[in-house]
Amino acid sequence: MNKKLLSFIFYLIVVISCDTNTEDCCDQQIEQEVFEELGYDKPYEYGKIYYGRNKYVEFYPGSLPIILSAPHGGDMIPTEIPDRTYGTTVTDSNTKEITLAIKNAFLSKLGKTPYVVINNLKRTKIDANRDSIEGVQGNRFAKRAWEEYHHYIESSKNKIIQEFDYGLFLDMHGHGANPDGFYDLRTWLGYLLNKDELQLSDSELNTSNYQNKSSIKTLSFVSPENFIQVLRGKNSLGTLLDSLGYESVPSVSDPSTNGTFYYSGGYNTSAHGSAIIGNPISSIQLELPKPGIRENSVQWRDYSNALVIALEKYFKSHYGIDL
Ligand SMILES: [Zn+2]
Repeated sequence: MNKKLLSFIFYLIVVISCDTNTEDCCDQQIEQEVFEELGYDKPYEYGKIYYGRNKYVEFYPGSLPIILSAPHGGDMIPTEIPDRTYGTTVTDSNTKEITLAIKNAFLSKLGKTPYVVINNLKRTKIDANRDSIEGVQGNRFAKRAWEEYHHYIESSKNKIIQEFDYGLFLDMHGHGANPDGFYDLRTWLGYLLNKDELQLSDSELNTSNYQNKSSIKTLSFVSPENFIQVLRGKNSLGTLLDSLGYESVPSVSDPSTNGTFYYSGGYNTSAHGSAIIGNPISSIQLELPKPGIRENSVQWRDYSNALVIALEKYFKSHYGIDL
């Protein structure tokens, strides 16, 4: 039987049984919404859009071995979810729009798209780039959205591994001024290596220890280039973006931030990349500055076109894949 129909019948039973029971029964049971099993909306077909409960999460199945995730660009503030009481709550403005622009740029140039997972809830309600404890802070509706978000990513990863063996997960963010007021206008690429580790020389950093803890562990094993080259050599994502006019760290020109503040990658970069366990999907966190990239639709369209070119070269160089 159709699962939606089953849920409705269950709801009717609750309502009818409540009519004959005490008031207590009604208040408690009617409020407890039953969620569908995750994955009830499978199979995920390319070209369709799938939404989680109340459209808090949206998912675009793709046809390329790339997943784009936008956890901090949402603006929905439903009253059923109270505001989070601890942790960061700042929105990464226009990152949802940029993520969709990148999808469209791939479609225009290649006729194919990456998988895209977007959180529409404002960060005051959920943080989809934290573990579920800090991310939802005990609210079951936020927890449901968190689970859907990561379910759609996991489904995308499985499909990509089946079709391509390897792939890349990109977590899309935006950074503002540093705590000391300095605004670093470079894009920060996070590989789970902190700012002090990036300060090390190539020979100090090019070890199995750092390779193992980086989010591109598997990609750097598959690549004909060595770990440090993949991280900040001439075919690294940072250098490719640099060559297209978008200064990035790490890269040949900027191997590190020079010790200044930097985000090296959060929960998603760790959970959905290849650090330690060597998952076939590697990951990079992109922290985009606002000036020059996130201010208006012309900027983010130009940036998206550049990122597509950079990723085409990146996949060819390291995975031997023609996108
Ligand atoms: Zn963010």
